[in-house]
Amino acid sequence: MLLLTPGPTAVPENVRMAMSEPTIHHRTPEFSEIFRQTREKLKKIFKMDEVLMLASSGTGAMEASVLNLCRKKALTVNAGKFGERFGKIVKACGYELVELKYKWDTPADVEDIVKTLNKHKDIDTICVQVCESAGGLRHPVENIAKEAKKINPDITIIADGITAVGVEDIDVSDIDVLISGSQKAFMLPPGLSMIGLSSNAIKKIEQGGKGYYFNLNTELKKQKQNTTAWTAPTTLIIGLNTILDDIFALGLDKFYEQTKLRSKASNEALKAIGFKIFPKTPALAMSAVYHEKADEIRKILKNKYEVNIAGGQDHLKGKLFRINHMGLIKPYETGWVLNALELILDEIGQREYDGTANKIFSKNMEM
Ligand SMILES: *Cc1c(COP(=O)(O)O)cnc(C)c1O
Repeated sequence: MLLLTPGPTAVPENVRMAMSEPTIHHRTPEFSEIFRQTREKLKKIFKMDEVLMLASSGTGAMEASVLNLCRKKALTVNAGKFGERFGKIVKACGYELVELKYKWDTPADVEDIVKTLNKHKDIDTICVQVCESAGGLRHPVENIAKEAKKINPDITIIADGITAVGVEDIDVSDIDVLISGSQKAFMLPPGLSMIGLSSNAIKKIEQGGKGYYFNLNTELKKQKQNTTAWTAPTTLIIGLNTILDDIFALGLDKFYEQTKLRSKASNEALKAIGFKIFPKTPALAMSAVYHEKADEIRKILKNKYEVNIAGGQDHLKGKLFRINHMGLIKPYETGWVLNALELILDEIGQREYDGTANKIFSKNMEM
């Protein structure tokens, strides 16, 4: 079975092998050295002053970031499941919430953000996804951050980059907190999250720090010494160190370039056989397609062609399918899915098969 869901992604064999070694204790010089190497590599990918690793899925990093960095009132962008989650976290942490809601195919409007910040002068934090995975939507995070800082230079920008870090070269000039998770572009099993921090965010954390397990001040102090506050997810960090070596061996630029090419070529191929790309501003992490028979298509794809892709949630349940582009994916794997989708269109009586999907995909992959 080919796993092409936009998280979890397939784990490469050499990474699985590295993680199958006997467990080493987390308070040893051996593990500290692995931790140090991993931290250094992560800093190069995040391009930020600090990167923390937490034993949690991505949502834990979202909660830790909001808890430790918001002071009183947060603005959240809700254009899907994950944006909605930020709002719920803000409330659960006991902070005031202003939520901007958008349709799941529509990116946040920078003007709306500016207006909201001018209206609520006490907003101290903005929480937004780089890619809202619910609809495969790219938000203009860099612009939001830039304009927000013009209004309030001290505002904290928390960007959920779980389906963007390791996918594209994000401009982090105005971003304070950038969140990532192990099971997306890093091709690891779920359970490890990462938080990139700007010098501003570090200062704020050092002034405060909230909570116990998720107290980022406690973590910051420990991780600077190449250890963790609590028992580290050693196996996942060993896996991360391994996959980062593979990414750097390929070259970070090349890694991003390949993802972009595969993503764009897939969308062209899907459009060429009559599919509708769902978001108005597609993110590179996945192809999200709107189709009334999405679930039937997914079922045939799984049972007949042995490919697992994701569906839609909430009001888009049964109406959306999402194909992953994150990580090291062989072009022939993506080509296989696109060809299978074209065969399925023939099978359900929508369009006669003539090989267009693979042809357009291959043509675009050469550009
Ligand atoms: C996957 C994902 C998350 C994290 O979800 P977990 O299940 O907690 O790992 C958060 N935000 C986005 C945009 C995601 O795609």
